[in-house]
Amino acid sequence: MNWLKVSFISLPPWDRKELLFFEGFWCVSDVRDTGCCIKNRNCDYEGIHFDHESYEQPSSPSTIHPALFSLEDIISHGGQVPSNRTPIEVYTDGSKINDQTGSSFCAIANEVITNAWKAKLSPANTVFQAEMLVLKAAIEWANTANGDANIWSDSECSLQALKSFNVKNKITQEAQMTLLENARISLGWVTAHIGIKGIEIADTLAKEATTDGIPASLTFPKSFLKKQLLQLSLSRWQSEWDNGETSRSVYSIIPKISNKQLHWSRECIQFATGHGPFPSYLKRFGLHSTDYCGCGEIGNPLHYATRCPLTLSYHHKEPSPQFKVHWWKSTLSRKLSRRNIDNLITFLATNEDLIKSQNTTPSHTPA
Ligand SMILES: [Zn+2]
Repeated sequence: MNWLKVSFISLPPWDRKELLFFEGFWCVSDVRDTGCCIKNRNCDYEGIHFDHESYEQPSSPSTIHPALFSLEDIISHGGQVPSNRTPIEVYTDGSKINDQTGSSFCAIANEVITNAWKAKLSPANTVFQAEMLVLKAAIEWANTANGDANIWSDSECSLQALKSFNVKNKITQEAQMTLLENARISLGWVTAHIGIKGIEIADTLAKEATTDGIPASLTFPKSFLKKQLLQLSLSRWQSEWDNGETSRSVYSIIPKISNKQLHWSRECIQFATGHGPFPSYLKRFGLHSTDYCGCGEIGNPLHYATRCPLTLSYHHKEPSPQFKVHWWKSTLSRKLSRRNIDNLITFLATNEDLIKSQNTTPSHTPA
């Protein structure tokens, strides 16, 4: 199969999902079962149905001849300010507040608002999509207005995209086509903070649009699909971690999973898991005759970090039984104490004979 792997989501190795791009379609695929998603088909993951048509797909390249693509001159980035000399000034804005996305434009002629347009997008849509949607709407409206029109936006990247020949976004391509057909429309970038009345009106309208705009149904961006997959995978990982039977000592220290790295050293991992140079661990593999340390107590990580006379210089304060979990969390969360643990484990690993040397019948009841 000719899959092109585009993105990889950082997840535990037993549950890796890939986002694949195949003949123009984004798909979800399980590494263990790439057959679950075939071209043009929808797929299911963790009980959620993914319809490929709901997600943004790259459009085929523009059909305009490069020699006829002349948008460079009519889209300016600064240097110009709204002058009121042009019969129609159109101000656009896109907004995303508290996960609500909206966009709007207002047209002003002779200091009178002649048209206002508001659209409400899905919370999954991006500000860029909102900005691009309103630019297209403004261009289309100006095209029918039959006069010279200046369209203003404070979104530099949207204007940059409109100027680019190699865009694969359908809305941008459609806006470009309209622009190329009408030489009376020009666009300019204007900063949002210079107190231009039209920009302020568009800004207010865009905020209103997040609640009362006309619903615009735009496909969801690729970033949203990645976010959805990541969240589903993380919650599956969390439930496996909650209900698992192994590594319970680590579970009590880190009950909440995260895909952010902990930055624990190899020694700290040995300490937290108990899988290190401890008699309690070595005995399981026949590398030590007993669970006990040379001093006579059970030789586990906590013993060496708090009680063993052989490791006195690496000691932390011993926790009372009800604060044991807290002790583990705090010991492994502080940089200095992690460094101390590193030194302790290195000491134990290089002095295994010392730990074993006084190995006799236990003299104390294990802690
Ligand atoms: Zn000991």
